[in-house]
Amino acid sequence: MTDCIFCKIARGEIPSKKVYEDEHVFAFHDINPIAPVHFLIIPKAHLPSLYECEAGHEAALGRMLSVAGRLAREQGATDGFRTIINTGRVGRQEVYHVHIHIVGGPDVLPGMLKR
Ligand code: AMP
Ligand code: ZN
Repeated sequence: MTDCIFCKIARGEIPSKKVYEDEHVFAFHDINPIAPVHFLIIPKAHLPSLYECEAGHEAALGRMLSVAGRLAREQGATDGFRTIINTGRVGRQEVYHVHIHIVGGPDVLPGMLKR
């Protein structure tokens, strides 16, 4: 995808505050943070949403989760954090390139969604 903003960030064509990079994933600070720690982990290869995931994406999807805790701790979320993946219209997804939000910081998170 040439016109996807997160593809461009992963390729370094749009500047970002990089947190981490390896062969599968790229992580960077959210431009509009909702908490003291708020960064995104994305697969380097374009993937619009969880709806499009297949077995071939498992290496990147697994890596996104396996680095999350270490990166969260390094960014200062040492006492817990929340992982959020918004999908589609109902999930209020804004950027159609899969991303995990890592949100944390000292005592900033409300409880889970209201029942
Ligand atoms: P969503 O698709 O709703 O899960 O969220 C998209 C997230 O991407 C939002 O939290 C935005 O603040 C963030 N975002 C959009 N553009 C950029 C950018 N250029 N750099 C960093 N974060 C961004
Ligand atoms: Zn993309």
